[in-house]
Amino acid sequence: MTPPAPDWHQLAADLRPRSQAVIDGRLVDAVDGATFPATSPRDGRVLVEVAAGQATDVDLAVQAARRAFDAGHWSRSAPAHRRRVLLRLAELVESHADELATTVSLEMGKPVTDARTIEIPALVTTLTWYAELADKLLDELPHTEADALAMVTREPVGVVGAVVPWNFPLTMAGWKLGPALAVGNSVVLKPAEQSPLSALRLGELALEAGLPDGVLNVVPGLGPQAGQALGRHADVDVIAFTGSGTVGRELLRYAADSNLKRVYLELGGKTPNVVFADAPDLAQAAATAAWGITFNQGEMCTAASRLLVQRDIHDDFVEQVVAAIGDRRLGDPLDPDTQIGPIVDEQQLARVLGYVAAGREEGASLRLGGGRTLQDTGGSYLEPTVFTDVDNDMRIAREEIFGPVLSVLPFDDVEDAVRIANDTVYGLAASVWTRDLSTAHRTARAIRAGTVWVNCFEEGGLSVPFGGMKQSGNGRDKSVHAIDKYVDLKTTWIAL
Ligand code: NAP
Ligand code: MG
Repeated sequence: MTPPAPDWHQLAADLRPRSQAVIDGRLVDAVDGATFPATSPRDGRVLVEVAAGQATDVDLAVQAARRAFDAGHWSRSAPAHRRRVLLRLAELVESHADELATTVSLEMGKPVTDARTIEIPALVTTLTWYAELADKLLDELPHTEADALAMVTREPVGVVGAVVPWNFPLTMAGWKLGPALAVGNSVVLKPAEQSPLSALRLGELALEAGLPDGVLNVVPGLGPQAGQALGRHADVDVIAFTGSGTVGRELLRYAADSNLKRVYLELGGKTPNVVFADAPDLAQAAATAAWGITFNQGEMCTAASRLLVQRDIHDDFVEQVVAAIGDRRLGDPLDPDTQIGPIVDEQQLARVLGYVAAGREEGASLRLGGGRTLQDTGGSYLEPTVFTDVDNDMRIAREEIFGPVLSVLPFDDVEDAVRIANDTVYGLAASVWTRDLSTAHRTARAIRAGTVWVNCFEEGGLSVPFGGMKQSGNGRDKSVHAIDKYVDLKTTWIAL
């Protein structure tokens, strides 16, 4: 029997959000007492004042992380021990799923049903998957001549700085924490300004799960302060980042200016969603296109933001997509029926509206939406927006909008579709819809992107890597390959 659905508004009213940093196993204020407001885009209200970590706080966290690493209670513990603790953490996340879903929904506006059924389960699955991997990794004994023995072993890098965005605050954190912790590293996590609360609660649950003090520290704060301090810290070995290209470049500069730490970047995208006239199910393709630009308010690095439609079906297909988007329910993210919540904050809303204006100025046709809505709530809501007659040179086709704004472009054949799809600095993901095996493979092979979906979108489990080509980044989250980011390889060569 399924338990009764929680009363999300009641849970939100009862929520006592955490506001202190998690450093060295303790919940602490910023050393100088500074705070910043965590504001809900649902109604513009301040949820709580959160500790604003500065360089001093980050330094304390890094020192704690290093001490924990050197002490070895985690880094040199039996892999089976790390498996058990991380599984316990996954269980704790699961048993606090309603609370965490409420927190995520309040802080960044994700519809609570999506938070509860997609984001929190994704974190549980990620932690479980890497927990299970912890004691199943094998090292290498390469063949050598008879008078030698060579071993290639993985060693944890040491202190990992994880800097994550607000759009999937817990999933993104999990993609870094899972592999980094499973192999024995210590981590300092810097959540986004817009979503510190869920990360702080996760840090607290990690202590409850039995992670030794200092192994996972969570330092909320502003990017240019806490984030920069982590990026420039001389005792951080790896930065694992998800966010914008602008900040990614800064992190590379910080590394160059400090200790040459490794910097892994998961950046933005401008996903081409390529629909051929022979797609197996055009209605499903249209419904998916609609979902792909409105799920999570379009605040998704893989958002299906460029819809490429073969010319013969263009008008009918666009009709279907526009209708399907219009059917999606926009509103209070705490309402379980809501499918599109508010934009994360006023600044992002203004940015997205700027793109809507740019689309109009550059001559695209506005087919749907384009305006702010539900203003009486005090929240930052935007009507989902569709532009047709888009040229790939327009800003709305070139730049990542990170909002529910769809650009539709017609194409003629495979070559034309591939040319437009690849005419971007990004290479995160792409989608191709066709029933022809050869068209599917030729297109999938020709598109430069870390993930290509065929006759689906946004599918895939933990076993497949996720990340970008070109300016969408380097390194991969998920899968066994993510482990590579958090280990050093050591060769030990023994003369026998
Ligand atoms: P963002 O502005 O780049 O911020 C990401 C993180 O970096 C935040 O924690 C931010 O802190 C921090 N930061 C900002 N300035 C910094 C600095 N100077 N030094 C160090 N850290 C700094 O990105 P966002 O607005 O949160 O998220 C949207 C972006 O993330 C989009 O471009 C999207 O495509 C990308 N994204 C990519 C993926 C992927 O897997 N490829 C997934 C999700 C999102 P503050 O919040 O305090 O500014
Ligand atoms: Mg930001």
